[in-house]
Amino acid sequence: MTPPGPGAADAGPGEADWAAAVAAVRDLPADAPVQLICHVNPDGDALGSMLGFGLGLRRLGARRLRATFPGPHELPEPLRGLPGLDLLVPEEDAYAAPALVVCFDAASESRLGALVDRLTTAGTALVLDHHASNTRFGGINLVDPRAAATSVVAEELLARLGVTLDAEIAECLYVALTTDTGSFRFEATTPAVHELAARLLATGIRPGDISRRVFDTRPFGAVRLFGEVLCRARLDPGAAGGHGLVWTYATLDDLARHDQRPYVLEALIDSVRCTAEADVSCVVKQVGAAEWAVSMRSKGAVDVSRVAVTLGGGGHRFAAGFTGRGTADEVIAAIRAELDKALIEA
Ligand code: 5GP
Ligand code: MN
Repeated sequence: MTPPGPGAADAGPGEADWAAAVAAVRDLPADAPVQLICHVNPDGDALGSMLGFGLGLRRLGARRLRATFPGPHELPEPLRGLPGLDLLVPEEDAYAAPALVVCFDAASESRLGALVDRLTTAGTALVLDHHASNTRFGGINLVDPRAAATSVVAEELLARLGVTLDAEIAECLYVALTTDTGSFRFEATTPAVHELAARLLATGIRPGDISRRVFDTRPFGAVRLFGEVLCRARLDPGAAGGHGLVWTYATLDDLARHDQRPYVLEALIDSVRCTAEADVSCVVKQVGAAEWAVSMRSKGAVDVSRVAVTLGGGGHRFAAGFTGRGTADEVIAAIRAELDKALIEA
C-alpha cells in the first residue's frame, strides 16, 4: 500500500472555510457565551492554541468566554504558568449550550469525553486541527494536515479576525508550536513555522525561559523514575520489516513508588526514540488495571498513525497513539502485528 500522497484529503482549509469561521466569530454579540474545548490530557499544543485563541477573542471584546478539557481539572505542572489560565474552568462548569464552541487539536470526537455533546448543543461548532486522521466532525472545519501544530491554524484565524499578537497570546502559541515541532527539530518545521516563530518572538517573549520551564524541568523523582523505566527498554531489531522496534512500559506502581503524576511520563518517549537501532519506538503507560496509554514514534519507515487508527486511536504519520487493553506485553504484541502492514514504501 502507498501512503496518502498530497491530495484533496491533505489540502488545508479553503477560502470558504476561513470565511465561514471568521463570520462565525465576528457575527457573535459580545455577550454570547463562547466555549473553547481541547482534547483529553491536553498537551502544549492543545492548551496553548486554546488559551492563545481565547486571549485573542478577549481582545476582540468577547465577554463570556470559558475554556475547558475533558477529565480531571488538573494540568501538567510545566503548563501551569501559561497566560490565559483564568479562562479555564472544570468541565462541569462549561457552558451547556454555547453560541459557539471552538475545538482545538482533537482528531476525533472520541478525544472530547463528555464534552462531545457541545458539538450539538452549541449554535456553531468550529474545529481547529492539524491531524491527518481528523474526521471533520465540526460544522466548520479548519483542518490543515500540513500545519506543524494547531497553533498555526489558530494564529491564521486570529490574523484574519484582525487580532494583533501581544506577548501573552504569543507565549501560548509559542509553547504550542515548540511542543509539536519538538522545538523546531521535526520534519514539519517549514519556513512558515520559523516565520510564525519570528512573529511570536517579536512580541518580546523569552524563548529560553519558556523552554526551560515547559520542556527542561522535572522533579528529581521523575528523573529517577525515567532511569528505572529506561533500564527495562527492549529492542526488537526484526520488527517493522527489519527496521526495528524499541519499547518500554511504566506502571501505576512505578508512578506511586516515585511519587509522580502521570503527565511526567509524556517526555519519556523522547528518551526512547533516540535509539539508533530502531525506526519505531513505543512507550506503554498504565492508566488503569488493564488499560494503557500508548505513544508511538517513527523515523520514516512506518506510518504509525495507521497502526494507531487500526487499534482505535489516531495521530500523525510519525507520532501517534491509542488506548491499549490487556497486559503491556499484549499491547506490544498487537502493535508488532500491525507494524509490517504500515510500512511506508520508499
Ligand atoms: P503522544 O504520544 O504525544 O501522546 O501523541 C502523539 C500523537 O498521537 C498526538 O498527535 C496525539 O493527538 C495522538 N494520540 C495519542 N493518543 C491518542 C489516542 O488515544 N487517540 C487518538 N485519536 N489520538 C491519539
Ligand atoms: Mn497538535
